[in-house]
This record gives sequence, C-alpha cells and structure tokens, in this order.
Amino acid sequence: MLIGIDDTDSPQGMCTTYLGAVLARRLIHEGMRIHEARLVRLNPNVTFKTRGNAAIALDVAGDSDHAFAIACAIVEELADFSCENTNPGVVVVDTRPDPAFYTKAVTDFCRIDEAIELLRAAGALYHGYKNKRGLIGATAAVASVLEDRTSEILVYRQTEHWGTPREVDRQSLFDAEKATFPHTWDTVDTANDVVVCVPHTPDPVLFGIRGENPSWVMVARQMVQSEKPGIEQIWVTNQGTDAHILAGRIGEILEGLSYRVQGVVVEAPSTTKGGHVSFTISEGDHSLWCMAYEPTKNFRQIVRQLVPDDVVIVVGSFKKGSINLEKIKIVELATPVSSRPPICPPCNKRMTSDGTGKGWKCKKCGIHAKEPELQKISRTLKPGWFEVPPTARRHLAKPLCRGEPDF
Ligand code: ATP
Repeated sequence: MLIGIDDTDSPQGMCTTYLGAVLARRLIHEGMRIHEARLVRLNPNVTFKTRGNAAIALDVAGDSDHAFAIACAIVEELADFSCENTNPGVVVVDTRPDPAFYTKAVTDFCRIDEAIELLRAAGALYHGYKNKRGLIGATAAVASVLEDRTSEILVYRQTEHWGTPREVDRQSLFDAEKATFPHTWDTVDTANDVVVCVPHTPDPVLFGIRGENPSWVMVARQMVQSEKPGIEQIWVTNQGTDAHILAGRIGEILEGLSYRVQGVVVEAPSTTKGGHVSFTISEGDHSLWCMAYEPTKNFRQIVRQLVPDDVVIVVGSFKKGSINLEKIKIVELATPVSSRPPICPPCNKRMTSDGTGKGWKCKKCGIHAKEPELQKISRTLKPGWFEVPPTARRHLAKPLCRGEPDF
C-alpha cells in the first residue's frame, strides 16, 4: 500500500516529514515492512504552504486498515491542529492513483474535490481533517512517479531540544560538503560562507543532507558533528530535479506556475532599491519582466552583465507579473558596439560633429566624414548556464552540479 500524509505543521512547529518518520517506525513495530519513504515537494507558489510545500508517501507491506488507523492516530497525536492553516490529510491506497495528479500538484494548482474524486475512484481509505486541504498533497504524494530522483537524509532533534538553538558543528558541515560535492549539495554555501542545511525554524529537523543517492548522503552525514540526534530518515525525493518547470513562451505563461522561457534582452538590467536586479526580455510583440532578487547574491553580477540583443533562457516562477530567476542560460551573446567621432587621416586628430545627421568635420583641415568609428565592446560574460547560490536555491530547483538542463 501507499500511505500519503500532508499539512500537519505550522510556523510554530512540527514537520510532516518528521511525522512520516515516526509513522514508519510505528508500522515497523507493528510488523509491517517499509519499501520506500518518499518526500515530494509540490508547487512552490502555493500560498497555503507553511514552508517548503512538502508531502510524504510511505510504500508499505502490511494490512491497510491497520496502517490507516495508525497513520490517523499519529496525525491526531502530532499535527499542530491549533493553527488555522493546518488541515491534515491522510490517504491509504493499494494501487497508485493517476500520476497526472502529482504532475499537476507540482506544476500547477489543484482543488480539494479533485483529490477526493481521485481517491474515491481508487477505492482509497482517506481522512481529511478540518478543511481537508492536506488531501491534495497526500494524494499527490501517493500518485507520484519520479522520473528523476534524489536523496535527503533528515536528522531530527530529540524532543527535549525542540525550540532551543541547534548545535551543529559548522566546520564539520563545510568538511562534509568538500568531501562529497557534487554528489551532495546545498549543505553549505561556500561562496557566501553560509550554512544552508540547518533550519532556523522551531521544527524538529536538526539538519538535512541532499545528494544523488542514499550512499552519498550517508557519507556526508557521518562527517557531521552535532548535538545528540533523535531519529533519522533517508527520503527518496523530487528535490533538485526541476520537476516544477514547464516549457513556456512569453505572452502565454500563467501566474503561479514555473517556466523556462527563451527571449531576447530588451534593455540593460537595472538595480532597484534593495539590490534587486530587473530586466526585460521579449519574443515578437510580447515582453516579460525578469527579477534576480537581492538574496540571490552573486548571481546578480551575472545578470547585470546582460546587454540588449543577448538571447537567454530564463528559468523560474512567474509571480506578480515577473519571472523570479532560479537559473539562466546565456544562449547567444550580442556584440555591442560603441561609436565615437572618427580620426582625421591627414591630421591624426579626432573630428567633431558637424550637426545632427551631418557627419563629422575636422576642425583643422575641414575634411568631412560620414561614418563614425565603431568599436566592439568586449564581454567577459560567456554563454552557458548560471544559477542562484545554494542559500537562495528552492527545494525543487536542479543544481547545475547535477548536470546542465537539456532544454
Ligand atoms: P508541511 O510540513 O506540513 O507539509 P508545508 O510547507 O509543506 O508544510 P503545508 O502545511 O503542507 O506546507 O501546506 C501546503 C498545503 O497546500 C497543503 O494543504 C497541500 O495539500 C496544499 N497543496 C500542495 N500543493 C498544492 C497545489 N498544487 N494546489 C493546491 N494545493 C496544494
């Protein structure tokens, strides 16, 4: 069977993955076998999300009714029902529902009644608490088919430590990254000298290591020194896979969805108050505004080097009328030129303007020239892919260390 759970946490605490890890242990205690523990991230632009729009699914061998009863009991015991925005969903199915529901949940918006319809058709056992919204994520998790997958080991805190400052040895995290990158990523952000894998929210997670497979995340995990941890769970995930990205065209993209879009830079980027960098690209008569926000740090230096006529592919979510950049491909660099008055050949002196549209004239000998001197402006920017640093990376964004996108 597949057990799906979502929407159990609040900004004040809990985490659906922790609840899933506790559930896995109780099911094992009841004699059941866990084939896989899966963590899926869904549309990152869903406004109801608490943090990273995560949902979990466990692939379990055992009695469905018993497992459903245990799952509901754990949700009732651990979910933060006090928060208005916590609306847990629990789902148990014997066969995977249509994966199209997962695809929609990761790329688009779903309705609660769509999830319920699918669950009814699949003969699922399900319980939607309060407004039942958690059934969307829980159904998406059990419906998910992952074409690309990565691993994350989540190390949770002992319950008595929850809410207190986390103790994780900083140097051991940098050492773990150094020893295992690019097979693991986003443990730390070396360029910005920041630890990325330790949350600051009051949830049960101590730290998480992301990587290509369970072996690599374990190598890194074993190097990390910290306060005495509680339980640990390795998850199969869709993180770092670009599962949220759709192919889009300027003029045809929808608010709240995430895209890759090709276009031509219209004007040089400008930096607005707060250090955010914006520019516009176009295709035909349509244009699209793109943003590299201040938290994307050094990535903005790449964006600032764009000039009109550069051809780019921008990747990110379309929110409030602009693409929020996660990465960019410089497809083709324009060759900008600067023009200045030509030099008078006999006098070897620079000429001066002879009036608008009238060319240039040498002040000394009076000779005329029609064409200015054109000079190619050299570019340091090179074609290729560029991405935001680990501190600014979204859970679903595929890091370039996993290979360049093939679009
Ligand atoms: P948690 O750890 O509890 O899962 P979170 O940050 O992942 O925290 P949730 O609290 O789960 O966020 O809130 C997200 C809510 O949005 C859930 O109720 C989920 O079912 C719902 N949801 C997820 N994806 C979509 C979608 N594509 N369309 C509509 N609702 C969605």
